[in-house]
Amino acid sequence: MLSFIAAVAGGTAPDWLEVAWWTRKRRLWVTHRTITHWGIGWIVLLVCAYRWLGYQHPLAALAFGFACGGLMHLLADWPNPLGVPWIAGRHSLNWWNSGHCDLLIVGASWAAAWMVAGHVWLHGVHGFALPPHWRAG
Ligand SMILES: [Zn+2]
Repeated sequence: MLSFIAAVAGGTAPDWLEVAWWTRKRRLWVTHRTITHWGIGWIVLLVCAYRWLGYQHPLAALAFGFACGGLMHLLADWPNPLGVPWIAGRHSLNWWNSGHCDLLIVGASWAAAWMVAGHVWLHGVHGFALPPHWRAG
């Protein structure tokens, strides 16, 4: 449940982390879609949080959910023309403009979540399963 709540916050984090909340005008303190949208940073957070889950660290679930949400945000920003700085310069898939195809992104996210949940909790009842050599243990 903590992961879910953190994922909701993480899903919008790359944008609200750009806002200077401590000032009255609340302008951006960094250029839009730069450091707060840095792919490597979010992936490192995800990998570290995933590893912390193994140590049952109290903040691991929060960090993992937050990182999942942040990465989903980057994946959703990636198709539009401004793109996302995954490594260094921004890269765009140039599929559509912001505000278009939101339903497609939301639908694809729910489908992916459904398949992952089915694999993890229901042991692949939806017919989607990782190859045996990918599975841990
Ligand atoms: Zn964004």
